[in-house]
Amino acid sequence: MAALPVPLNVHAQQQATLARPVDSVPAPFPVPNPTKSFWIDTPGANPLAKEGSQGPLTADADIAIIGSGISGVSAAYHLSHLLAESGNTSKPLKIVILEARDFCSGATGRNGGHLTAAAFEEFTAYSTSFGTDEAIRAIALEKRTVSEIVNLVKQTGNEATLDLIPGGRVNLLFTEPEVVQAKLDFEAAKAAGIDVSHVDFLTKEQVEKEYGASYPAFRTPGYNIWPLKLVTHLYNLGKTTGENSSTSSLHLHTNTPVTAIAAISDATSARRWNLITPRGPIAASYVLHATNAYASHLLPHLRGPSGIVPVRGQIIATRAAVSEQILTRSAFTGNEGFEYWFPRPLEPGQTNPLVILGGGREATKPTFELYVTDDSTVNSAVGDALRKFLPVVFPGKYEDNKEPEMEWSGIMGFTKTGDPFVGPIIDRANPESTAYAGQYISAGFTGHGMPRTFSCAEAVAQMMVADIQGKEWSIPEWLPRHHLTENRLGE
Ligand SMILES: Cc1cc2nc3c(=O)[nH]c(=O)nc-3n(C[C@H](O)[C@H](O)[C@H](O)COP(=O)(O)OP(=O)(O)OC[C@H]3O[C@@H](n4cnc5c(N)ncnc54)[C@H](O)[C@@H]3O)c2cc1C
Repeated sequence: MAALPVPLNVHAQQQATLARPVDSVPAPFPVPNPTKSFWIDTPGANPLAKEGSQGPLTADADIAIIGSGISGVSAAYHLSHLLAESGNTSKPLKIVILEARDFCSGATGRNGGHLTAAAFEEFTAYSTSFGTDEAIRAIALEKRTVSEIVNLVKQTGNEATLDLIPGGRVNLLFTEPEVVQAKLDFEAAKAAGIDVSHVDFLTKEQVEKEYGASYPAFRTPGYNIWPLKLVTHLYNLGKTTGENSSTSSLHLHTNTPVTAIAAISDATSARRWNLITPRGPIAASYVLHATNAYASHLLPHLRGPSGIVPVRGQIIATRAAVSEQILTRSAFTGNEGFEYWFPRPLEPGQTNPLVILGGGREATKPTFELYVTDDSTVNSAVGDALRKFLPVVFPGKYEDNKEPEMEWSGIMGFTKTGDPFVGPIIDRANPESTAYAGQYISAGFTGHGMPRTFSCAEAVAQMMVADIQGKEWSIPEWLPRHHLTENRLGE
């Protein structure tokens, strides 16, 4: 068997590099002219691309959300639903989403499309760092999120339009240490009471027979989806819910970067913050930073390893050399999660599936594309590793030296622990101060946002609605306490 074209067992090295103190600068804005992604640049896929980029600006809002990825739009969706359910606003609350580039053109529009909850992965590491209860919650958050999204898509009858595929996911274990770690995590999760009955461990021979790759593996339930189409659907549902209940109105301004946030000092003003944009200011009472990799641009205290580190990921869309029947509809991941791939459903006239494959960053070790913020280019070393990967893993199922049909990059927001920051913005130097009153964040999903963002946005939307209505917010059982900004001040 040919050697894999990527270094193996280097996750710990990446984590050490990530945690290393650096004198980093805040993240820049998203660059103009990002690489073209399959999800965004397939004709007709992004009807909201330029929505609200011209014409009058919504200059006054109750809630301003910065970022139109899955976090920002999920927050708008949940805000609309929470306000409709409570129904007690004297007039509809105005919610505005501000996006620096086209709609959903950040990580969400450029990702791998996997919507899969962790079943037991990293259970021991998480328990060691934060305790067993938190490790149980980390798994609960992901299972809940995937099930909420899947139910929502099914209830609205959109499985086909959003390409929701329940293909499961096979996690290939390339090395013996990975096999040992997977079994440790599985047993620890099981002993803690997590339901792992849906997990199958497969021998090398079973994987060879079913999928044509000669490595042991474990298989879990999982989905893939067209992320941009899901986010567009969430936006439309949120807007309609607010309008039908007359409790909120949702507005979107793409190509409208927020360059600064200034406190409104006029005591007679009903609003607290002025969001500065090249098109004029927007006054708002509440602000949500859903800016993920770019969060530290507006919140410089979140720069560097104690905050959110931008990391560039890369994807190719490559045509398999065999049919869907031979390839199966399963998604895969391997090499400690560095690589991930799945076959797209066939379009009319196609015989062999287009496979979306991400990863290859470890080919750049020791830098791993950390602190790289330019998604208008790709890394040729990463691209080279990606081109060679599938023909080696699945001999005979992919042509050697075949050029991908598309290749793109996107910027992820990594945190040291892998956990996002969720909750009110707190001045780390003076946690009691009200310097950021009304500002919240849900960001830092560390390349694993599809099974977490929707629920984290719900938690932050609940916090804002509770504050607006003068009520206490109670933390949902499924949210790891370590995600909360108030528990992250020492990082
Ligand atoms: C290559 C790649 C592959 C991935 N694969 C997967 C996967 O298969 N499964 C999975 O679960 N996760 C995956 N992820 C991670 C996942 O995509 C993210 O965790 C998730 O999309 C984060 O969503 P978000 O809304 O928080 O951030 P984003 O989608 O990045 O949205 C943030 C938005 O904020 C905007 N913005 C930033 N600053 C400003 C400003 N000042 N003013 C206005 N707008 C601003 C940005 O333009 C952007 O649109 C991948 C990510 C990448 C990049």
